[in-house]
Amino acid sequence: MSGPANEDKFYPNRWVRIILIATEEIVGKNGINALLNMGGLSHYIDNYPPDNMKKEVPFAHVGQLQLAFWDMYGARGARAFAVRAGKKTFNDGLDSFGSVATAARAAMKIGSLERRIGLGLQIFAKFFNQVSDQEVSLTDDEKSWYWNILVCPMCTGRTTDSPVCHLAVGVLQGALENFVDSDKRFNVSPTHCIGQGDETGIVVIDKEPL
Ligand SMILES: [Zn+2]
Repeated sequence: MSGPANEDKFYPNRWVRIILIATEEIVGKNGINALLNMGGLSHYIDNYPPDNMKKEVPFAHVGQLQLAFWDMYGARGARAFAVRAGKKTFNDGLDSFGSVATAARAAMKIGSLERRIGLGLQIFAKFFNQVSDQEVSLTDDEKSWYWNILVCPMCTGRTTDSPVCHLAVGVLQGALENFVDSDKRFNVSPTHCIGQGDETGIVVIDKEPL
């Protein structure tokens, strides 16, 4: 079973611009051009989306870019690569996240580590929901936080046999490294994915640092 086409869902221009710039910095100019060609996205070559928050990039394009990673680097390479790109996307995008980053940092100064991270993730989920058509919710239990992706750009149009939304893993890792003591690492792993037929995509974040 494949994920929905999400034809009426969009990411803000700036996010996809940052994803493309981060990817280009990792694979080089030729690499990104090859990826865009492979993903049927050649119209973005030398023509990245503009630096604004208008919701104009269809989720299908985000999914096609992810699929191109898989076709070019194989599942293993693509997963590692998507995590790296996600982390870099978060770091490169931090400035443009502006007020949300400030709010998250402020909220995360007080209380226990667990409380701070929970708050920070909560703020991020809200932010995703506000400025993009991605729908995210955060839940938790004693052991873990659950980043639930109800509408997902990353696996849009894809049919997979394992979770493929590793870009989200990288973004979450980037967020955790930035907002928590950077010497603490957390296990972040995708367990469910709409692309493989799950109703909701889920990324699990262990509360106990590694
Ligand atoms: Zn997904």
